[in-house]
Amino acid sequence: MTGARLLPGGPDPDLAEVDAACHCGAVRLRLRLSDGLRTARRCDCSFCRMRGAVAVSAPLDGITIVAGAEQLAEYRFNTRTAVHHFCRVCGIYTHHQRRSNPDEYGVNVAILKDVSPFDFAEIPVGNGRCHPSDGGGGQAGTLTYRPAPA
Ligand SMILES: [Zn+2]
Repeated sequence: MTGARLLPGGPDPDLAEVDAACHCGAVRLRLRLSDGLRTARRCDCSFCRMRGAVAVSAPLDGITIVAGAEQLAEYRFNTRTAVHHFCRVCGIYTHHQRRSNPDEYGVNVAILKDVSPFDFAEIPVGNGRCHPSDGGGGQAGTLTYRPAPA
């Protein structure tokens, strides 16, 4: 997939360590990212299509749950390989263990402190309808965002 592209004046693409929290603040995480914000992507599988979140990668030892572990619910479907975590209070998706790369977490970029999905000009969309683990993969398209003129 081609990389995500940040808007000028956006956050540091090399962002390595960052705090994160769900909307209500019950769940708080400390993150170490695999490759900064460069791994930002979406996926068009049946679940991600509804969830609508942009995710970045973190290694399995890159997530520390600082608060609210007891508030984290999980959801699995289909092969039940991927584990999707969300806050049971506010419903916000925080992170998931990936099916395409079980050695990594995907983390909701919108929960990162001072980072927004609207900081990105371009986000690649992975082909999740035919999953990499089912012989598919590759890039389905690119989402673009164009801020209104100031
Ligand atoms: Zn919450």
